Amino acid sequence: MNETDVVIIGAGHNGLTCAAYLAMGGLRVKVVERRKVVGGAAVTEEFCPGFRNSVAAYTVSLLNPKVLGDLKLAEHGLKIVERRAQNFLPAPDGRYLLTGEGRTLPSIAKLSARDADAIESFSRELEAIADVLREFVLRAPPNLVEGFGAGAIRESFNALGSASILRQLSLEQKRDLLDLFTRSAGEMLDERFENDLVKALFGFDAIVGNYASPYAAGSAYVMLHHAFGEVNGKKGVWGHAIGGMGAITQTMARAARAHGAEIETEAGVREVIVERDRAVGVILDNGATVRAKYVASSVNPKLLYTRLVPTQALPPEFLARIERWRNGSGTFRMNVALSTLPSFTALPGDGDHLTAGIILGPSLAYMDRAWQDARAHGWSREPVVEVLIPSTLDDTLAPQGQHVASLFCQHVAPELPEGKSWDEHREEVADLMVATVDKYAPGFAASVIGRQILSPLDLERQFGLLGGDIFHGALTLNQLFSARPMLGHADYRGPVRGLYHCGSGAHPGGGVTGAPGHNAAQVILRDHRALFG
Ligand SMILES: Cc1cc2nc3c(=O)[nH]c(=O)nc-3n(C[C@H](O)[C@H](O)[C@H](O)COP(=O)(O)OP(=O)(O)OC[C@H]3O[C@@H](n4cnc5c(N)ncnc54)[C@H](O)[C@@H]3O)c2cc1C
Repeated sequence: MNETDVVIIGAGHNGLTCAAYLAMGGLRVKVVERRKVVGGAAVTEEFCPGFRNSVAAYTVSLLNPKVLGDLKLAEHGLKIVERRAQNFLPAPDGRYLLTGEGRTLPSIAKLSARDADAIESFSRELEAIADVLREFVLRAPPNLVEGFGAGAIRESFNALGSASILRQLSLEQKRDLLDLFTRSAGEMLDERFENDLVKALFGFDAIVGNYASPYAAGSAYVMLHHAFGEVNGKKGVWGHAIGGMGAITQTMARAARAHGAEIETEAGVREVIVERDRAVGVILDNGATVRAKYVASSVNPKLLYTRLVPTQALPPEFLARIERWRNGSGTFRMNVALSTLPSFTALPGDGDHLTAGIILGPSLAYMDRAWQDARAHGWSREPVVEVLIPSTLDDTLAPQGQHVASLFCQHVAPELPEGKSWDEHREEVADLMVATVDKYAPGFAASVIGRQILSPLDLERQFGLLGGDIFHGALTLNQLFSARPMLGHADYRGPVRGLYHCGSGAHPGGGVTGAPGHNAAQVILRDHRALFG
């Protein structure tokens, strides 16, 4: 048995961020991680001899600049580079859209003069709202509390603070914000643009990790969620961490350890110990016990409350509601080792477009069909695939002259219909994904010399991502902001005293941001000071 101030369940990037802040705040911290390596869904592994890649999360933008700075990740060795082009969308008819600094407008103008006129105001609208919403990322959302005690007073001030942030938006921008929270991306894009590729550029952000049609209400928020990011101070830009996403979490682990946090791997938690209505530690899979003043969990909230916290410790209505927590991103992830770079029919040969996020999903109608098909059949027979070739920006990942690519594929059903199992269909669907890329870049399939496949079931088994949900719970209005993970618990405090949420299942949700870990640490430190001065 060992004792500490805080035990953190899971060494994903949020668990590590939380650990670093708590250790900086003077608390003794122990992180316990089920896997052999730290990093959770942000890890780099060798998936084929000589070829390494980010296994799950594969591209960086959302990582919060304050977290980057406070944890001194650059000093601990993290280097993030921009893609030389942001997105490349080839169409089957040979046309394409290529975005990035100085490229977006001329490329759109070639497709549609009307859309070239419309893009500026749409981007401005999104950016203005993203700018204001960024201010919510590193603060706890207003939490609903009953009664008139100290908690209610604190939350009234929090609500006033949030209202004053929103007051920066004009009335018209507030109307836009309401649209973005409630409407479908598809409808909003159809109103503004005429070209399919232009709509698909934004539509992809609305369906990525979101098992829904781009015409589903609420999908506009998912589009907005992906616009919060920045790379090296440039807003809305996506980039690459040299060494892959694991470089981010390795440097976070270094930062946490440098401040005194202890991290133990192959130390899965079997149970949260609750004594006299207070969480006081955890029991590991090997039977060892870690006792602590506070327990912070970075795992999916449904996993925490249905598998790790004893049922009798929870209010029945809380348990019933968390059992209905909606998981399931509908994504299928592959890493492939390539003997050579792909050549796209729409833009043959090498070039900056091969450093971009290459989106194979040429229209909103295509994306809608992909979802409909996955609902009926289990996976879309014409899937949406994003291809990213990080070895074009990073020569540490593959042998010289060869490459690695991430394929992020939407839509597949989190659970297959008619009792079918992903174990039986993994290879068949992987072949389909490779064939889909081959349609746009003939010869791609022949260049694949190794592959790693992660179906939704594999994501659940390997990373504890229930239903393969990449965000620890869908980003729907009923699971966001003050409702993440549940109304009354948006302040990072669980229903059991001493138990906190520090992972993506808490505000502001999924993505490699570090924000839930940062925010939870502030709450734990505040509670600690209130108890012990
Ligand atoms: C396929 C995929 C692609 C993605 N792409 C991107 C992307 O490109 N960019 C981006 O920003 N985001 C991306 N995301 C989302 C992002 O990776 C996640 O939202 C984020 O990594 C979650 O971080 P976390 O620390 O909250 O949780 P996790 O990373 O899930 O960490 C939780 C940790 O808890 C551990 N754990 C689970 N159960 C136990 C237990 N019982 N005891 C101890 N430990 C336990 C897990 O092993 C894991 O290490 C992607 C995710 C996936 C899955």
